[in-house]
Amino acid sequence: MKIGFVGLGNMGAPMARNLLKAGHQLRVFDIVESAMTSLDQAERAESAAQAVQGVEVFISMLPAGQHVRDLYLSEQGVLSVVQPETLLIDCSTIDPETSRTVAAAAADQGIEMLDAPVSGGTAGASAGTLTFIVGGVADALQRARPLLEVMGANIFHAGASGAGQTAKVCNNMLLAITMAGTAEALALGVANGLDPAVLSEIMKQSSGGNWCLNGYNPYPGVMDGVPASRDYEGGFLVDLMSKDLGLAIDTARAAGSSVPLGALADSLFALHRTCNSAGRRDFSSIQWLYQPELKR
Ligand code: NAD
Repeated sequence: MKIGFVGLGNMGAPMARNLLKAGHQLRVFDIVESAMTSLDQAERAESAAQAVQGVEVFISMLPAGQHVRDLYLSEQGVLSVVQPETLLIDCSTIDPETSRTVAAAAADQGIEMLDAPVSGGTAGASAGTLTFIVGGVADALQRARPLLEVMGANIFHAGASGAGQTAKVCNNMLLAITMAGTAEALALGVANGLDPAVLSEIMKQSSGGNWCLNGYNPYPGVMDGVPASRDYEGGFLVDLMSKDLGLAIDTARAAGSSVPLGALADSLFALHRTCNSAGRRDFSSIQWLYQPELKR
C-alpha cells in the first residue's frame, strides 16, 4: 500500500519501520528533519500536505491535541488537500473531543477517519506488538486492520469516533493509580522491616496482585529488566503519564463525571515531577516520592 506517515518520534519511527519491513511504500514527514534519518527506504515529503497526496492510508503520531488540530484543520492542513478515498488514522494520544472534531470535519468531506491510540510503549512499537484502541466506524477499521496488524498484536474497537481515546485515558488513569498504590504498599512494608521482594511475592499471590507487581515492579532490585532496576531510565515517562492524567481529568469534566483517585494520582505525579525532577524518568519512579532515600 501507499502510506503517508507524519510524526516520526519515539513511537512513530519504529511503527513506520515495521510498515516498510512489511513491504509497504511510505512517504514520511516530520518537522524535525533528523527524525526521518532512520527511514532511508521511505520517500521524504516536504510537508504533511505533500505526505498525504495520492496515498491510500495516512497515519499521524503526534504529541498532543493541538498538534493534531493544526495538522488536519489548519488552512494548509491535511484536510485541505486529502483525496476522498484516503483513510486517515491518528494514533496520537489526545483528548477525545479533538478526535471527534477532526473526524467530523473529515466526514463532512466524505473521508473516513479513525482514532487509534496505542498501548505498549516504544518496545511494543519496535517489536510490532502494540495494542491499538480504535474509535470510528467498523468499515474503516476493516480497511485499516491489515496495517494495524503489521504494527500491533491486539486491535480493539472501542466504539464511535473518540472512543479509542476515551478507553485509552481510562486505562492509563487506572495504571497511574495502581502504580502509586503499589509503590505506597511497598514503602509501607519496607518501613516496617519487610523485604520488598518477599512482600511483592506475597501481594502477587494475594488480593492486592496487579499488573505492576506482575511485570513492572517499581521497587529497585526486585525485578530484572524493568526501569526500576536501571535507575528508572527509559520506559514510560512521568511527563507522558502526567499528560494522560490531565486528559483523564479534562474528559471527566467534559462528561460531568468525577475522578477523585485520578485527580489525586495527577497531583502525586505532579509533585514527584517537581520535587524529584523526574519528568524524563519512567513513571514507576513514583517510588521516590514515598522513599526519597532510594534516590541516588
Ligand atoms: P515524540 O515527541 O517522540 O514524537 C512526536 C514527533 O512528532 C516528533 O518527532 C515531532 O517532531 C513530530 N511533530 C510534532 N508536530 C509535528 C507536525 N506538525 N508535523 C510533523 N511532525 C510533527 O512522541 P512519542 O513518544 O513518539 O509519542 C507520540 C504519541 O504517542 C503521543 O501522543 C504519546 O502520548 C503517545 N504514546 C507514547 C508512548 C511512549 O511510550 N512514548 C506510548 C503510548 C502512546
